[in-house]
Amino acid sequence: MKEAALVGKTMDESIQGTALMQEGERGSRKLYIESYGCQMNFSDSEIVASILAKEGFGTTRNVEEADLVLLNTCSIRDKAEQTVRNRLSSLNQLKQSRPEMKIGVLGCMAERLKDKFLDEEKLVDLVVGPDAYRDLPNLLEKVEGGRKAVNVILSKEETYADVSPVRIDSNGVSAFISITRGCDNMCTFCVVPFTRGRERSRNPETILAEAKDLEARGYKEITLLGQNVDSYLWYGGGLKKDFDKASEIAQASSVNFAQLLAKVAEAVPGIRIRFSTSNPQDMSDDVLHSIAKYPNICNYIHLPVQSGSSRILKEMNRGHNREEYIALINRIRKIIPDCGISQDMIAGFPTETEEDHQETLSLMDIVRYDYGYMFYYSERPNTFAARKMEDDVPLEIKKRRLTEIIASQRKHSLERNRAHVGKIQEILIEGDSKKSDQEWKGRNDQNAMVVFAKTGNEKKGDFVKVLIKDCNTATLFGEIVSED
Ligand code: SF4
Repeated sequence: MKEAALVGKTMDESIQGTALMQEGERGSRKLYIESYGCQMNFSDSEIVASILAKEGFGTTRNVEEADLVLLNTCSIRDKAEQTVRNRLSSLNQLKQSRPEMKIGVLGCMAERLKDKFLDEEKLVDLVVGPDAYRDLPNLLEKVEGGRKAVNVILSKEETYADVSPVRIDSNGVSAFISITRGCDNMCTFCVVPFTRGRERSRNPETILAEAKDLEARGYKEITLLGQNVDSYLWYGGGLKKDFDKASEIAQASSVNFAQLLAKVAEAVPGIRIRFSTSNPQDMSDDVLHSIAKYPNICNYIHLPVQSGSSRILKEMNRGHNREEYIALINRIRKIIPDCGISQDMIAGFPTETEEDHQETLSLMDIVRYDYGYMFYYSERPNTFAARKMEDDVPLEIKKRRLTEIIASQRKHSLERNRAHVGKIQEILIEGDSKKSDQEWKGRNDQNAMVVFAKTGNEKKGDFVKVLIKDCNTATLFGEIVSED
Protein backbone atom coordinates (compact mmCIF):
# COMPACT_ATOMS: atom_id res chain seq x y z
CA MET A 1 0.00 0.00 0.00
CA LYS A 2 1.15 3.58 -0.34
CA GLU A 3 4.07 2.91 -2.57
CA ALA A 4 3.85 5.16 -5.62
CA ALA A 5 3.04 8.83 -5.27
CA LEU A 6 2.65 10.47 -1.87
CA VAL A 7 1.71 14.17 -1.83
CA GLY A 8 1.22 16.52 1.10
CA LYS A 9 3.45 14.47 3.42
CA THR A 10 7.21 14.32 4.02
CA MET A 11 8.70 11.24 2.39
CA ASP A 12 10.00 9.65 5.55
CA GLU A 13 6.40 8.68 6.18
CA SER A 14 6.38 6.42 3.15
CA ILE A 15 7.50 3.16 4.45
CA GLN A 16 9.70 0.91 2.33
CA GLY A 17 12.39 -1.54 3.24
CA THR A 18 13.02 -0.33 6.80
CA ALA A 19 15.23 -2.32 9.16
CA LEU A 20 15.46 -0.42 12.41
CA MET A 21 16.30 -2.44 15.49
CA GLN A 22 16.00 -1.21 19.05
CA GLU A 23 13.94 -3.26 21.46
CA GLY A 24 14.56 -7.03 21.30
CA GLU A 25 18.27 -6.86 20.55
CA ARG A 26 19.07 -9.39 23.23
CA GLY A 27 19.42 -13.06 22.14
CA SER A 28 22.19 -15.40 21.08
CA ARG A 29 21.02 -15.73 17.49
CA LYS A 30 20.62 -12.70 15.25
CA LEU A 31 17.42 -11.84 13.35
CA TYR A 32 17.41 -9.16 10.64
CA ILE A 33 13.89 -8.30 9.50
CA GLU A 34 12.98 -5.86 6.75
CA SER A 35 9.38 -4.71 6.25
CA TYR A 36 7.70 -3.49 3.06
CA GLY A 37 4.29 -2.06 2.28
CA CYS A 38 1.57 -1.07 4.73
CA GLN A 39 1.57 -0.46 8.46
CA MET A 40 0.01 -3.92 8.99
CA ASN A 41 3.25 -5.46 7.76
CA PHE A 42 5.31 -3.36 10.16
CA SER A 43 3.04 -4.38 13.01
CA ASP A 44 3.33 -8.05 11.94
CA SER A 45 7.14 -7.80 11.91
CA GLU A 46 6.94 -6.85 15.59
CA ILE A 47 4.83 -9.98 16.21
CA VAL A 48 7.40 -12.11 14.36
CA ALA A 49 10.28 -10.63 16.38
CA SER A 50 8.37 -11.50 19.56
CA ILE A 51 7.70 -15.11 18.50
CA LEU A 52 11.39 -15.57 17.53
CA ALA A 53 12.67 -13.86 20.68
CA LYS A 54 11.31 -16.89 22.54
CA GLU A 55 13.57 -19.02 20.32
CA GLY A 56 16.65 -17.03 21.36
CA PHE A 57 16.67 -14.55 18.49
CA GLY A 58 17.71 -11.01 19.18
CA THR A 59 17.28 -8.42 16.45
CA THR A 60 20.13 -6.72 14.59
CA ARG A 61 20.37 -3.74 12.26
CA ASN A 62 23.35 -5.31 10.52
CA VAL A 63 22.33 -7.83 7.86
CA GLU A 64 25.96 -8.99 7.58
CA GLU A 65 25.83 -10.56 11.04
CA ALA A 66 22.36 -12.06 10.79
CA ASP A 67 21.69 -15.80 11.24
CA LEU A 68 18.22 -15.30 9.84
CA VAL A 69 17.10 -12.66 7.32
CA LEU A 70 13.35 -12.16 6.90
CA LEU A 71 11.72 -9.93 4.28
CA ASN A 72 8.12 -9.06 5.16
CA THR A 73 6.73 -8.51 1.69
CA CYS A 74 3.97 -6.50 -0.02
CA SER A 75 1.96 -7.57 -3.04
CA ILE A 76 -0.34 -4.58 -3.54
CA ARG A 77 1.30 -3.65 -6.90
CA ASP A 78 3.72 -5.32 -9.27
CA LYS A 79 6.36 -2.73 -8.39
CA ALA A 80 6.22 -3.75 -4.72
CA GLU A 81 7.02 -7.34 -5.69
CA GLN A 82 9.83 -6.25 -8.02
CA THR A 83 11.36 -4.35 -5.12
CA VAL A 84 11.45 -7.57 -3.07
CA ARG A 85 12.97 -9.59 -5.94
CA ASN A 86 15.69 -6.93 -6.38
CA ARG A 87 16.39 -7.04 -2.65
CA LEU A 88 16.71 -10.82 -2.74
CA SER A 89 19.23 -10.68 -5.59
CA SER A 90 21.20 -8.06 -3.62
CA LEU A 91 21.46 -10.64 -0.79
CA ASN A 92 22.88 -13.28 -3.13
CA GLN A 93 26.54 -12.43 -2.52
CA LEU A 94 26.13 -12.34 1.24
CA LYS A 95 24.39 -15.74 1.18
CA GLN A 96 27.24 -17.17 -0.94
CA SER A 97 29.77 -15.91 1.63
CA ARG A 98 27.66 -17.11 4.59
CA PRO A 99 25.82 -20.31 3.48
CA GLU A 100 24.69 -20.99 7.07
CA MET A 101 22.58 -17.84 7.00
CA LYS A 102 18.89 -18.55 6.33
CA ILE A 103 16.61 -16.31 4.25
CA GLY A 104 12.84 -16.23 4.57
CA VAL A 105 9.95 -14.29 3.03
CA LEU A 106 6.82 -13.34 4.94
CA GLY A 107 3.67 -11.35 4.20
CA CYS A 108 1.41 -10.93 1.19
CA MET A 109 3.81 -11.88 -1.61
CA ALA A 110 4.69 -15.08 0.30
CA GLU A 111 0.97 -15.85 0.63
CA ARG A 112 0.28 -15.06 -3.04
CA LEU A 113 3.13 -17.14 -4.49
CA LYS A 114 3.24 -19.89 -1.82
CA ASP A 115 5.82 -22.64 -2.64
CA LYS A 116 6.20 -21.21 -6.17
CA PHE A 117 8.39 -18.62 -4.41
CA LEU A 118 10.98 -21.35 -3.74
CA ASP A 119 11.07 -22.28 -7.45
CA GLU A 120 11.36 -18.66 -8.58
CA GLU A 121 13.87 -17.49 -5.92
CA LYS A 122 16.42 -20.22 -5.17
CA LEU A 123 17.95 -18.11 -2.40
CA VAL A 124 14.83 -18.44 -0.26
CA ASP A 125 14.71 -21.15 2.42
CA LEU A 126 11.42 -20.27 4.08
CA VAL A 127 7.99 -19.00 2.89
CA VAL A 128 5.48 -18.00 5.58
CA GLY A 129 2.06 -16.39 5.13
CA PRO A 130 0.59 -13.67 7.42
CA ASP A 131 -1.46 -16.14 9.49
CA ALA A 132 1.29 -18.73 10.03
CA TYR A 133 3.91 -16.83 12.07
CA ARG A 134 3.34 -19.01 15.16
CA ASP A 135 4.71 -21.92 13.13
CA LEU A 136 8.06 -20.15 12.54
CA PRO A 137 9.97 -22.13 15.22
CA ASN A 138 8.92 -25.47 13.61
CA LEU A 139 9.64 -24.24 10.10
CA LEU A 140 13.07 -22.99 11.18
CA GLU A 141 13.86 -26.41 12.61
CA LYS A 142 13.17 -27.93 9.18
CA VAL A 143 15.31 -25.29 7.46
CA GLU A 144 18.16 -25.78 9.91
CA GLY A 145 17.86 -29.48 9.06
CA GLY A 146 18.72 -28.56 5.47
CA ARG A 147 15.20 -28.59 3.98
CA LYS A 148 13.03 -25.77 2.58
CA ALA A 149 9.84 -24.91 4.51
CA VAL A 150 6.47 -23.36 3.62
CA ASN A 151 3.34 -22.54 5.61
CA VAL A 152 0.76 -20.31 3.95
CA ILE A 153 -2.42 -21.53 5.60
CA LEU A 154 -4.89 -18.69 6.15
CA SER A 155 -6.74 -18.82 9.47
CA LYS A 156 -10.31 -18.18 10.64
CA GLU A 157 -9.25 -17.32 14.19
CA GLU A 158 -5.70 -16.03 14.24
CA THR A 159 -5.28 -12.45 15.59
CA TYR A 160 -2.00 -12.95 17.55
CA ALA A 161 -3.93 -11.38 20.45
CA ASP A 162 -1.69 -13.00 23.09
CA VAL A 163 1.61 -12.13 21.41
CA SER A 164 3.16 -8.93 22.82
CA PRO A 165 4.94 -7.22 19.94
CA VAL A 166 8.64 -6.38 20.12
CA ARG A 167 8.65 -2.69 19.11
CA ILE A 168 11.43 -3.04 16.58
CA ASP A 169 10.48 -0.11 14.42
CA SER A 170 9.59 2.43 17.04
CA ASN A 171 10.62 5.95 17.95
CA GLY A 172 9.49 5.19 21.51
CA VAL A 173 6.61 7.66 21.11
CA SER A 174 4.13 6.08 18.63
CA ALA A 175 3.14 2.44 18.31
CA PHE A 176 0.78 0.27 16.31
CA ILE A 177 -1.87 -2.04 17.76
CA SER A 178 -3.50 -4.36 15.23
CA ILE A 179 -7.22 -4.86 15.94
CA THR A 180 -8.47 -6.86 12.93
CA ARG A 181 -6.97 -9.13 10.26
CA GLY A 182 -8.14 -9.87 6.74
CA CYS A 183 -10.83 -8.19 4.61
CA ASP A 184 -14.22 -9.34 3.30
CA ASN A 185 -14.81 -6.47 0.91
CA MET A 186 -13.45 -8.02 -2.27
CA CYS A 187 -12.69 -4.79 -4.16
CA THR A 188 -12.08 -6.06 -7.69
CA PHE A 189 -8.52 -4.66 -7.97
CA CYS A 190 -7.29 -5.76 -4.56
CA VAL A 191 -5.11 -8.74 -3.68
CA VAL A 192 -5.50 -8.34 0.11
CA PRO A 193 -8.51 -10.65 0.64
CA PHE A 194 -6.49 -13.43 -1.09
CA THR A 195 -3.30 -12.79 0.88
CA ARG A 196 -4.77 -11.97 4.28
CA GLY A 197 -8.00 -14.00 4.32
CA ARG A 198 -11.37 -13.38 5.89
CA GLU A 199 -12.03 -10.66 8.42
CA ARG A 200 -11.71 -11.45 12.10
CA SER A 201 -11.47 -9.09 15.03
CA ARG A 202 -9.28 -9.24 18.12
CA ASN A 203 -10.55 -9.53 21.70
CA PRO A 204 -10.95 -5.92 23.00
CA GLU A 205 -9.57 -6.89 26.42
CA THR A 206 -6.21 -7.75 24.84
CA ILE A 207 -6.25 -4.47 22.88
CA LEU A 208 -6.90 -2.48 26.08
CA ALA A 209 -4.14 -4.41 27.90
CA GLU A 210 -1.67 -3.60 25.10
CA ALA A 211 -2.69 0.08 25.17
CA LYS A 212 -2.17 0.28 28.96
CA ASP A 213 1.19 -1.50 28.61
CA LEU A 214 2.30 1.05 26.00
CA GLU A 215 1.13 3.91 28.26
CA ALA A 216 3.12 2.44 31.16
CA ARG A 217 6.18 2.30 28.91
CA GLY A 218 5.94 5.98 28.05
CA TYR A 219 4.37 5.81 24.57
CA LYS A 220 2.19 8.83 23.74
CA GLU A 221 0.38 7.75 20.58
CA ILE A 222 -1.34 4.57 19.42
CA THR A 223 -2.55 3.75 15.90
CA LEU A 224 -5.24 1.06 15.78
CA LEU A 225 -4.59 -0.98 12.63
CA GLY A 226 -6.60 -3.11 10.24
CA GLN A 227 -7.18 -3.45 6.51
CA ASN A 228 -10.67 -2.16 7.29
CA VAL A 229 -10.96 -0.96 10.91
CA ASP A 230 -14.57 0.23 10.54
CA SER A 231 -15.60 -3.36 10.10
CA TYR A 232 -14.23 -4.30 13.55
CA LEU A 233 -16.74 -6.47 15.41
CA TRP A 234 -15.88 -8.64 18.42
CA TYR A 235 -18.49 -11.18 19.48
CA GLY A 236 -16.32 -13.77 21.19
CA GLY A 237 -14.06 -14.79 18.28
CA GLY A 238 -14.53 -16.18 14.76
CA LEU A 239 -15.14 -14.64 11.37
CA LYS A 240 -17.07 -11.39 10.93
CA LYS A 241 -19.26 -13.07 8.30
CA ASP A 242 -20.49 -15.62 10.88
CA PHE A 243 -21.80 -12.95 13.28
CA ASP A 244 -25.43 -13.63 12.37
CA LYS A 245 -24.98 -17.28 13.38
CA ALA A 246 -23.75 -16.29 16.86
CA SER A 247 -25.99 -16.61 19.93
CA GLU A 248 -28.19 -13.71 20.96
CA ILE A 249 -26.03 -13.16 24.03
CA ALA A 250 -22.88 -13.02 21.91
CA GLN A 251 -24.52 -10.57 19.52
CA ALA A 252 -25.90 -8.44 22.36
CA SER A 253 -22.50 -8.23 24.09
CA SER A 254 -20.57 -7.57 20.88
CA VAL A 255 -18.18 -4.63 20.52
CA ASN A 256 -18.08 -2.61 17.30
CA PHE A 257 -15.44 -0.09 16.18
CA ALA A 258 -17.12 3.01 17.64
CA GLN A 259 -17.38 1.24 21.01
CA LEU A 260 -13.78 0.00 20.83
CA LEU A 261 -12.55 3.54 20.10
CA ALA A 262 -14.42 4.84 23.17
CA LYS A 263 -13.02 2.03 25.37
CA VAL A 264 -9.42 2.71 24.29
CA ALA A 265 -9.84 6.50 24.66
CA GLU A 266 -11.20 6.09 28.20
CA ALA A 267 -8.58 3.47 29.16
CA VAL A 268 -5.60 5.68 28.21
CA PRO A 269 -6.82 9.31 28.37
CA GLY A 270 -3.28 10.74 28.10
CA ILE A 271 -2.54 8.87 24.86
CA ARG A 272 -3.36 10.10 21.38
CA ILE A 273 -5.44 7.62 19.40
CA ARG A 274 -5.29 7.26 15.60
CA PHE A 275 -6.60 4.48 13.35
CA SER A 276 -6.09 3.18 9.81
CA THR A 277 -7.40 2.10 7.33
CA SER A 278 -11.06 3.09 7.01
CA ASN A 279 -13.52 2.06 4.32
CA PRO A 280 -16.35 4.45 3.30
CA GLN A 281 -18.93 1.70 2.96
CA ASP A 282 -18.38 0.51 6.56
CA MET A 283 -17.81 3.81 8.38
CA SER A 284 -20.68 4.60 10.78
CA ASP A 285 -21.68 7.96 12.23
CA ASP A 286 -21.10 6.40 15.67
CA VAL A 287 -17.40 6.35 14.84
CA LEU A 288 -17.56 10.05 13.97
CA HIS A 289 -19.33 10.82 17.25
CA SER A 290 -16.69 8.85 19.19
CA ILE A 291 -13.97 10.95 17.51
CA ALA A 292 -15.85 14.17 18.33
CA LYS A 293 -16.52 13.13 21.97
CA TYR A 294 -12.97 12.12 23.04
CA PRO A 295 -10.26 14.82 22.85
CA ASN A 296 -7.54 12.15 22.70
CA ILE A 297 -8.94 10.58 19.52
CA CYS A 298 -7.28 12.57 16.73
CA ASN A 299 -9.40 14.57 14.27
CA TYR A 300 -7.98 12.79 11.28
CA ILE A 301 -9.42 10.10 8.97
CA HIS A 302 -7.69 8.25 6.14
CA LEU A 303 -10.65 7.55 3.82
CA PRO A 304 -9.60 5.82 0.58
CA VAL A 305 -11.98 6.53 -2.34
CA GLN A 306 -10.02 5.21 -5.37
CA SER A 307 -12.24 6.99 -7.96
CA GLY A 308 -14.73 9.86 -8.20
CA SER A 309 -16.87 8.09 -10.80
CA SER A 310 -19.87 6.06 -9.58
CA ARG A 311 -19.58 3.85 -12.68
CA ILE A 312 -15.93 2.99 -11.85
CA LEU A 313 -16.72 2.60 -8.13
CA LYS A 314 -19.26 -0.04 -9.19
CA GLU A 315 -16.67 -1.77 -11.38
CA MET A 316 -14.33 -1.71 -8.38
CA ASN A 317 -17.07 -3.22 -6.13
CA ARG A 318 -16.42 -0.45 -3.59
CA GLY A 319 -19.93 -0.77 -2.13
CA HIS A 320 -20.77 2.93 -2.42
CA ASN A 321 -21.20 5.55 -5.14
CA ARG A 322 -19.92 9.12 -5.53
CA GLU A 323 -22.93 10.76 -3.87
CA GLU A 324 -22.78 8.47 -0.83
CA TYR A 325 -19.06 9.22 -0.41
CA ILE A 326 -19.65 12.99 -0.61
CA ALA A 327 -22.51 12.66 1.89
CA LEU A 328 -20.10 10.88 4.28
CA ILE A 329 -17.51 13.63 3.83
CA ASN A 330 -20.20 16.23 4.62
CA ARG A 331 -21.20 14.32 7.79
CA ILE A 332 -17.53 14.15 8.83
CA ARG A 333 -17.16 17.91 8.29
CA LYS A 334 -20.37 18.58 10.25
CA ILE A 335 -19.58 16.34 13.23
CA ILE A 336 -15.77 17.01 13.29
CA PRO A 337 -15.36 20.47 11.67
CA ASP A 338 -11.52 20.59 11.66
CA CYS A 339 -11.01 16.94 10.65
CA GLY A 340 -7.99 16.20 8.47
CA ILE A 341 -8.90 13.79 5.62
CA SER A 342 -6.56 11.87 3.33
CA GLN A 343 -7.25 9.62 0.37
CA ASP A 344 -6.11 6.71 -1.78
CA MET A 345 -6.74 7.12 -5.50
CA ILE A 346 -6.26 4.85 -8.52
CA ALA A 347 -5.82 6.32 -12.02
CA GLY A 348 -6.57 4.28 -15.12
CA PHE A 349 -8.75 1.45 -13.75
CA PRO A 350 -10.04 -0.81 -16.57
CA THR A 351 -12.64 0.95 -18.82
CA GLU A 352 -11.93 4.35 -17.18
CA THR A 353 -12.91 7.13 -19.63
CA GLU A 354 -11.81 10.76 -19.68
CA GLU A 355 -15.22 11.62 -18.18
CA ASP A 356 -14.62 9.20 -15.28
CA HIS A 357 -11.23 10.79 -14.74
CA GLN A 358 -12.77 14.28 -14.73
CA GLU A 359 -15.21 13.01 -12.08
CA THR A 360 -12.21 12.02 -9.93
CA LEU A 361 -10.71 15.49 -10.31
CA SER A 362 -14.04 17.17 -9.54
CA LEU A 363 -14.50 15.00 -6.44
CA MET A 364 -11.05 16.13 -5.24
CA ASP A 365 -12.14 19.75 -5.83
CA ILE A 366 -15.17 19.12 -3.60
CA VAL A 367 -13.35 17.31 -0.76
CA ARG A 368 -9.99 19.19 -0.96
CA TYR A 369 -8.04 16.47 0.86
CA ASP A 370 -5.14 17.21 3.20
CA TYR A 371 -2.97 14.65 1.41
CA GLY A 372 -3.19 11.39 -0.45
CA TYR A 373 -1.60 8.24 -1.77
CA MET A 374 -2.06 8.04 -5.52
CA PHE A 375 -0.99 5.44 -8.08
CA TYR A 376 -2.04 4.12 -11.45
CA TYR A 377 -3.81 0.79 -11.78
CA SER A 378 -1.53 -2.25 -11.48
CA GLU A 379 -3.26 -5.51 -12.40
CA ARG A 380 -2.92 -8.06 -9.56
CA PRO A 381 -3.05 -11.80 -10.38
CA ASN A 382 -6.23 -13.71 -9.45
CA THR A 383 -8.19 -10.60 -8.55
CA PHE A 384 -11.65 -10.29 -10.12
CA ALA A 385 -10.40 -7.41 -12.29
CA ALA A 386 -7.46 -9.50 -13.56
CA ARG A 387 -9.75 -12.44 -14.35
CA LYS A 388 -12.69 -10.53 -15.87
CA MET A 389 -11.49 -7.12 -17.04
CA GLU A 390 -8.97 -6.11 -19.67
CA ASP A 391 -6.28 -3.69 -18.44
CA ASP A 392 -7.28 -1.44 -21.36
CA VAL A 393 -6.15 2.06 -20.36
CA PRO A 394 -2.82 2.74 -22.13
CA LEU A 395 0.14 3.35 -19.77
CA GLU A 396 0.83 6.88 -21.03
CA ILE A 397 -2.82 7.83 -20.32
CA LYS A 398 -2.62 6.21 -16.86
CA LYS A 399 0.52 8.27 -16.18
CA ARG A 400 -0.99 11.52 -17.53
CA ARG A 401 -4.11 11.09 -15.41
CA LEU A 402 -2.01 10.27 -12.34
CA THR A 403 0.05 13.41 -12.93
CA GLU A 404 -3.15 15.50 -13.04
CA ILE A 405 -4.44 13.88 -9.83
CA ILE A 406 -1.12 14.55 -8.07
CA ALA A 407 -1.11 18.18 -9.27
CA SER A 408 -4.63 18.64 -7.92
CA GLN A 409 -3.64 17.11 -4.58
CA ARG A 410 -0.56 19.35 -4.33
CA LYS A 411 -2.80 22.41 -4.80
CA HIS A 412 -5.22 21.23 -2.10
CA SER A 413 -2.46 20.15 0.32
CA LEU A 414 -0.94 23.63 0.16
CA GLU A 415 -4.37 25.19 0.71
CA ARG A 416 -5.11 22.92 3.69
CA ASN A 417 -1.68 23.55 5.19
CA ARG A 418 -2.07 27.33 4.76
CA ALA A 419 -5.27 27.11 6.82
CA HIS A 420 -3.12 26.06 9.82
CA VAL A 421 -0.84 29.13 9.59
CA GLY A 422 -1.42 31.60 12.43
CA LYS A 423 -2.90 28.93 14.71
CA ILE A 424 -1.40 27.60 17.95
CA GLN A 425 -1.58 23.80 17.87
CA GLU A 426 -0.67 20.92 20.20
CA ILE A 427 2.17 18.91 18.68
CA LEU A 428 3.54 15.56 19.87
CA ILE A 429 7.34 15.60 19.51
CA GLU A 430 8.40 12.44 17.63
CA GLY A 431 12.11 13.20 17.24
CA ASP A 432 14.68 15.29 15.37
CA SER A 433 13.58 16.76 12.08
CA LYS A 434 15.07 15.13 9.02
CA LYS A 435 16.99 18.26 8.07
CA SER A 436 18.49 19.39 11.39
CA ASP A 437 19.07 18.05 14.90
CA GLN A 438 18.45 21.64 16.07
CA GLU A 439 14.81 21.14 15.13
CA TRP A 440 12.02 18.86 16.31
CA LYS A 441 9.43 17.15 14.14
CA GLY A 442 5.97 16.09 15.27
CA ARG A 443 2.38 15.97 14.06
CA ASN A 444 -0.72 17.98 14.84
CA ASP A 445 -4.18 16.49 15.48
CA GLN A 446 -4.87 16.41 11.70
CA ASN A 447 -1.71 14.27 11.15
CA ALA A 448 0.19 17.10 9.42
CA MET A 449 3.94 17.09 10.04
CA VAL A 450 5.30 20.17 11.85
CA VAL A 451 8.95 21.21 12.13
CA PHE A 452 10.08 23.73 14.77
CA ALA A 453 13.24 24.83 16.59
CA LYS A 454 14.32 23.22 19.84
CA THR A 455 14.33 25.50 22.91
CA GLY A 456 16.12 23.08 25.26
CA ASN A 457 13.08 22.83 27.60
CA GLU A 458 11.34 19.95 25.89
CA LYS A 459 12.10 16.35 24.88
CA LYS A 460 10.88 13.60 22.53
CA GLY A 461 7.43 12.42 23.60
CA ASP A 462 6.35 15.81 24.98
CA PHE A 463 3.16 17.57 23.87
CA VAL A 464 4.05 21.22 23.15
CA LYS A 465 2.13 24.27 21.92
CA VAL A 466 3.43 25.48 18.56
CA LEU A 467 2.46 28.63 16.64
CA ILE A 468 2.28 27.65 12.95
CA LYS A 469 4.08 30.36 11.00
CA ASP A 470 4.58 28.95 7.49
CA CYS A 471 4.12 25.84 5.34
CA ASN A 472 4.71 24.09 2.04
CA THR A 473 2.68 21.24 0.44
CA ALA A 474 4.11 18.64 2.83
CA THR A 475 5.15 20.36 6.06
CA LEU A 476 4.13 23.06 8.52
CA PHE A 477 6.79 25.27 10.14
CA GLY A 478 6.39 26.92 13.52
CA GLU A 479 7.82 27.92 16.88
CA ILE A 480 7.13 26.73 20.38
CA VAL A 481 5.02 29.17 22.41
CA SER A 482 4.61 29.11 26.20
CA GLU A 483 1.58 27.30 27.60
CA ASP A 484 0.19 30.34 29.48
S1 SF4 B 1 -11.26 -2.69 1.53
FE1 SF4 B 1 -10.91 -3.24 -0.61
S2 SF4 B 1 -8.97 -2.21 -1.07
FE2 SF4 B 1 -9.11 -2.32 1.14
S3 SF4 B 1 -8.04 -4.20 1.75
FE3 SF4 B 1 -10.22 -4.68 1.52
S4 SF4 B 1 -10.45 -5.44 -0.57
FE4 SF4 B 1 -8.49 -4.33 -0.45
